[in-house]
Amino acid sequence: MTTAAVHQAYRFALDPTRTQRGALAAHCGAARFAFNWGLEQVKASMALCEFERCMFGEVRTAPLRWSLAGLRREWNRDKDRVAPWWAQQSKEAYSSGLAGLVAALQNWRSSRDGKRRGTPVEFPPFRKRGHRDSCRFTTGAIHIDGVRHVTLPRIGRLRTSESTEKLGRKVASGTARILSATLCRGADRWFVSFTCSVERAATRSNGHTDTVGIDLGVHNLAALSGGELVPAPKALSCALRALRRSQRVVARRSRGSRRRQRAQLRVARIHRRVANVRRHHLHVLSTRLAKNPGRLVIEDLNLKGMVRTGRGTVAEPGQRVRARSGQNRLLLDAGFGDFRRLLEYKSVWYGSRLLVADRWFPSSKRCSACGAVRSELARAERVFACAACSFRLDRDLNAARNLDWWAAGHDVAASAVETQNARRGAATIRPHAGEGLEEARTGIVPEPAGLTTGGRDQLGLAYVPC
Ligand SMILES: [Zn+2]
Repeated sequence: MTTAAVHQAYRFALDPTRTQRGALAAHCGAARFAFNWGLEQVKASMALCEFERCMFGEVRTAPLRWSLAGLRREWNRDKDRVAPWWAQQSKEAYSSGLAGLVAALQNWRSSRDGKRRGTPVEFPPFRKRGHRDSCRFTTGAIHIDGVRHVTLPRIGRLRTSESTEKLGRKVASGTARILSATLCRGADRWFVSFTCSVERAATRSNGHTDTVGIDLGVHNLAALSGGELVPAPKALSCALRALRRSQRVVARRSRGSRRRQRAQLRVARIHRRVANVRRHHLHVLSTRLAKNPGRLVIEDLNLKGMVRTGRGTVAEPGQRVRARSGQNRLLLDAGFGDFRRLLEYKSVWYGSRLLVADRWFPSSKRCSACGAVRSELARAERVFACAACSFRLDRDLNAARNLDWWAAGHDVAASAVETQNARRGAATIRPHAGEGLEEARTGIVPEPAGLTTGGRDQLGLAYVPC
């Protein structure tokens, strides 16, 4: 069997002693200090160049080159003066801060020059204590120590809250190599994340030939074309009451007080829990889906367009702003973007194929029985009812079945990347409204059985009909 090296992260919660907590915070503080120091240098140099350009019409002082090597050289020259305590932390901490700065500046510059897609990247701001504290180690003594400990440079041996055995075994047998270790803090808990180069068996196919259309939604996390509805954990919605209450407590405490700090910690803990619940559900579902059917079909959701604010302007205030913001919260709570990312890499790992239907495919408005496309479908309509053939089915299941149908005509696209290429010429292969369902189906697509009676779907899981 052939193997391929892939980058994979292993994250462990740490169980540090009181002294170690101090050391972890100090290392993150050192990284932040170096980041802010470097940013100050870059800003000063930019301001000087700008000043000279205005005064003399030319730049006379050489501008600071913000490559990592250049900044490191400057830092080493300056550190005794600006940070006489620098030797107390590993030099990796400062290096990590500067590397973060270089990456941030590069992102900003390529975004400004139009070389980076997506939302424009702002010029990096100074880092604040307690905001995404992190520190990365790339060299030095980094290892897995037995089943419950890890070793990091300068900080030493740290106990973990969960077993490190799996990664330890891989490292010992040579199938995994640790490239770096990153410390980070989530509320009051510390984590270490190892970026590893792991040898994975290259799975060509998981042996299944069936297709499952997956419709993502807010009421159900996913509807599968086989008839299963996977309920959404609604992590944020469940925690909203507790969150509101604890945020109110923070507002009542005086700024800078210990009691306010404690109240803020409670808020952070709730947020951490919400993120954990969401991540857990997405992982469980995506692993199960990547292992089982041969092909997965999802929609290419334009999430950014979907969550646009409904507030409007002062002159033209938006309507139903509150309802809209609640809808947006649900959309973001579901974590669709993450789900697609997980499916993308897991389908490669487990040998299934991920197909992404193009954005304009009317998966919700099309009747999965006769192919007629409705012109309108209100959000509140939970059951799809076809005017042409009087077919009725849960809205999400109908969409999932349509995605399944879409795949039959688009077998050309073997991966998400290929789908994107296919989308450029989508006009020629996009299925049209009313196209006969029977001839489009090639026999790969399983006939959804027992949709109205309840039963077990293709994955062998029980579902309840809508
Ligand atoms: Zn119909």
